[in-house]
Amino acid sequence: MRDPRYDILFQSQQIGPLTAKNRFYQVPHCNGGGYRDPSAAAAMRGIKAEGGWGVIFTEQTEMHHTSEITPFIELRLWEDQDIPSIAKMAEAMKTHGALAGIQLAYSGINGPNMYTKEVPLAPSALPIRTFTNDPVQARAMDKTDIKNLRRWFVNAARRSQMAGFDLICLYGAHGFGIFQHFLSRATNQRADEYGGSLENRSRFAREVIADMRDAVGDKMALTLRVSLDETIGDLGFSNAEVRDFIAMNAELPDLWDLAMGTWEDCSGPSRFKEEAAQEAWVQGIRELSPRPVVGVGRFTSPDVMVRMIRQGRLDFIGCARPSIADPFLPRKIDEGRIEDIRECIGCNICITGDMTQGMGRCTQNPTWMEEWRRGWHPEKIAAKGESDSVLVIGSGPAGLEAALGAARRGYRVAVAEAREVLGGRVARERALPGLAAWGRVADYRLYQLRQLGNVALYPASPLTAGEVLDFGFQHICVATGSHWRADGVARQHVTPISADTTMPVLTPDDLMQGRRPKGRVVVFDDDHYYMGGVMAELCAQQGCEVTLLTPSAFVSDWTANTLEQAAIHRRLVAMGVKIILNTGLAAIHTGAVETCCSYTDLRAQLDCDAVVMVASRRSEDALFHDLQARQADWADAGILSVKLIGDAAAPAPIAWATFAGHRYARALDAPDLGDALPFRREVTALASD
Ligand code: ADP
Ligand code: SF4
Repeated sequence: MRDPRYDILFQSQQIGPLTAKNRFYQVPHCNGGGYRDPSAAAAMRGIKAEGGWGVIFTEQTEMHHTSEITPFIELRLWEDQDIPSIAKMAEAMKTHGALAGIQLAYSGINGPNMYTKEVPLAPSALPIRTFTNDPVQARAMDKTDIKNLRRWFVNAARRSQMAGFDLICLYGAHGFGIFQHFLSRATNQRADEYGGSLENRSRFAREVIADMRDAVGDKMALTLRVSLDETIGDLGFSNAEVRDFIAMNAELPDLWDLAMGTWEDCSGPSRFKEEAAQEAWVQGIRELSPRPVVGVGRFTSPDVMVRMIRQGRLDFIGCARPSIADPFLPRKIDEGRIEDIRECIGCNICITGDMTQGMGRCTQNPTWMEEWRRGWHPEKIAAKGESDSVLVIGSGPAGLEAALGAARRGYRVAVAEAREVLGGRVARERALPGLAAWGRVADYRLYQLRQLGNVALYPASPLTAGEVLDFGFQHICVATGSHWRADGVARQHVTPISADTTMPVLTPDDLMQGRRPKGRVVVFDDDHYYMGGVMAELCAQQGCEVTLLTPSAFVSDWTANTLEQAAIHRRLVAMGVKIILNTGLAAIHTGAVETCCSYTDLRAQLDCDAVVMVASRRSEDALFHDLQARQADWADAGILSVKLIGDAAAPAPIAWATFAGHRYARALDAPDLGDALPFRREVTALASD
């Protein structure tokens, strides 16, 4: 079953007093659920256990109330009453022989304490460093504070043990954990024995680990997650210093967990970072210590994983996103089903659950965070109900996911696609700069559909309502997508922009179809996700003189939630794109556009030869409305249902479309829920007084 080349990935490994059954190590990752949705988060980890991971971690767990990272929702272990909810997670992790890990975080200079209202404590008195630039500063810890914090770590370790965890990861990476704050000369400017030399800056980590070993070390393993390079300039904890630190403290933790720079550096999207992007930073570290090493790099290829082990870079293959996109990744490798791996596309939508305090979503795995809420399993789906056949119209992410779910349930499925190439928007967007990996959304689903005997795929088949009625399918799934509007309607303008027709105005669809603007191009971005930045990049690549104009204060504003915003800005600047922020588009004239300040009446003229309009999209729902208009004919045609899903219902990111497709497939022949909530949730129990 298993290809012997991959045997090495399944060798058991020692971590301190424990043995991991294989080298698949799910590093801590956020999910949006956290303490607000503990059962949903626990069930999600349980699915990973079933999927074969050897080590599974929680997300960051705030271990004391004097340091929390509101508004972001992670886990909390402040007192005994927090134990049951995290114990539920530990139990779920251990169901299939995985080791259960908890990541303890004291956020220090990263914790604004908006909920607890405590004064933040950090090695040095500096402003809190968060995504949200909170107007709060930390007080420098005195010796009593340090003593207290050591005790709080021991208390948290004991509670972690009571909750049933096997490993504790001490967070000192991504700028988020106090261990890094002590190690870095940027955040530790102390003059006492905890500051100055590397030896002194290491003292806090050494003391805490020694205390914790005394308390729980014979049964639990202690790991330390450190930054491979702080990437904040000269004062930061550099890669050379990390190596000195590890050499100096070679036997300090039971395992070294290595993670690059800031979270943005570490979880780089595929647009900016390749698989195994951290290799050069990790290379050679394993030789500095007898302890095993885990590292990450959006690993989805078992061959790359094997190379990481064989070349001595890593002992464990650390994965967050690949374990979200496919919780069954280890099992699929083990069972020789490489082609069934649902590869992460590196879009970072999974991070937006945390960043928006919403709920985690994954573009590739629509069941993520719905394991408990909706009872969705990533690999299992109920057998079909009474009816038999489904016609899916449109082969974008929504249509393909709907078709795959329905086909797996046993329905006879046909997919009709107007274009010659299947895949909908991803078939086109994958050709844009940096978005090649997004094509995996279509590749995975098309491959799976082609393995099934009950599916027929019909490219180059634009359907009309009359044809749909003639075909005789019982369920009609209209997933016909959307197109970009050229009239500028989005947020600044809710009605069309005044435009002189002599000015060429192109949409992203035009550019994806091969049309190219020439000369001086204004890309107007009132969409604020990736497309505006990508269009500017594409036009600059083609030699245009590009100005990106946006009413927002940031380029590709929403991509702050996918950790790409700074990288996009940097890339555009490097390509010579002129960026005009806080400025809208008032009117389009011949040879120029009129701009307007987002805050004042200030107007200006910007000469240009073409406009690329990245505004909003219009649903392609005409076929659905045609079918609805002929509802009287449905019964004769044998039609039981006609549904509109994905971008055709309401345009949104790709993850919304795969979710809609999956939901559609699960709902076929299911009882109508009426007015009931379509998912379970946890409601806070009222205190007795
Ligand atoms: P989503 O993101 O919702 O899946 P996409 O835009 O990616 O939407 O995909 C919709 C697909 O539907 C496109 O490839 C489009 O060509 C196709 N399509 C639109 N109208 C029809 C039609 N009448 N018949 C067949 N296919 C259609
Ligand atoms: Fe990968 Fe995107 Fe899924 Fe995150 S949301 S796991 S980046 S496919």
